[in-house]
Amino acid sequence: MLVPSSLEEALAGLATHPAATLLAGGTDLLVEVNEGHRRFAWPDGDTDVIALTRVPELSTWTFDPEARTVTVGAAVTWAEIEREPLRSMLPALAEAARTVGSPQIRNAGTVGGNLATCSPAGDGLPVFAALGAQIQLVGLSGRRTLPVGEFMMGVKRTALEPGEMIESITLELLDGWQGYSKVGVRNAMVIATASACLATDVASRSLRLALGSVAPTIIRCPVAEAYGTESVDWSAGTVAAQVARRFGEIAAETSRPIDDHRSTAAYRRHAVAVMATRLLQRAFPGADG
Ligand SMILES: Cc1cc2nc3c(=O)[nH]c(=O)nc-3n(C[C@H](O)[C@H](O)[C@H](O)COP(=O)(O)OP(=O)(O)OC[C@H]3O[C@@H](n4cnc5c(N)ncnc54)[C@H](O)[C@@H]3O)c2cc1C
Repeated sequence: MLVPSSLEEALAGLATHPAATLLAGGTDLLVEVNEGHRRFAWPDGDTDVIALTRVPELSTWTFDPEARTVTVGAAVTWAEIEREPLRSMLPALAEAARTVGSPQIRNAGTVGGNLATCSPAGDGLPVFAALGAQIQLVGLSGRRTLPVGEFMMGVKRTALEPGEMIESITLELLDGWQGYSKVGVRNAMVIATASACLATDVASRSLRLALGSVAPTIIRCPVAEAYGTESVDWSAGTVAAQVARRFGEIAAETSRPIDDHRSTAAYRRHAVAVMATRLLQRAFPGADG
């Protein structure tokens, strides 16, 4: 196993061992190893794994006041996202972070690991989609940036090429309420049966809604977004009850859930309608016009 202490060293490791597996917090990877879905030549195969947790460039975040963006390193943990000042800058991501596993999982698990695993139930992904995240990738052939919608290609399928890693995730700071909602079989330590993130931007008077666990990958809801944008009262900060309900119905119509061991498609669709309705009502809490 390689344990680089700089991004340069990590990239040199990737250049020599492009097929190596990247290890961040290990909270997804080690489950796969334990379940026999991934195999390594541990402990003698010292080139199979590149650990990223000691690469400072990946474990930090930066704020660009001019662009009004935050760029979060791939190895930033969920525990850090939960803390100030990121909690206030990225409230929906912090809300999602609080639902990831347990404190132990959040101390080890990273945003980059969540994104690279690309499970439709990953809690960070709907927030990244709603905030229009830009994903910076770095590897053997240099750097490139992809919108998160192009990075996520399907169930556990991403645009990552061999010899490439996620360097960071850039998120726009919006001027308005944003929140995350997740339904599962219990209140904690649970994988999402369905999830939703709503982000509002008062400056551009726009809404963004993204759904998790109801399609092969995260989906945005452009029809619901356009309906909500036109129908809420931006000046008063209110939404009529029937508008919020219709917003939820449109979101549910956009979802493409399936029956599986966690739930039924019908329940997931219902959950989407309820979550989207409530998120819109939380965003526009004024008196119902
Ligand atoms: C008990 C338990 C509960 C959990 N609960 C939740 C939950 O509620 N919600 C949720 O979303 N997830 C949950 N998870 C899954 C996991 O904790 C998260 O997905 C976490 O964010 C993964 O991050 P990690 O750093 O541990 O990734 P790792 O396990 O280190 O890596 C995961 C994958 O990403 C790749 N990878 C890591 N870093 C990079 C990088 N920089 N570039 C490219 N590829 C990279 C690895 O090679 C691997 O394929 C849970 C896991 C456990 C064990």
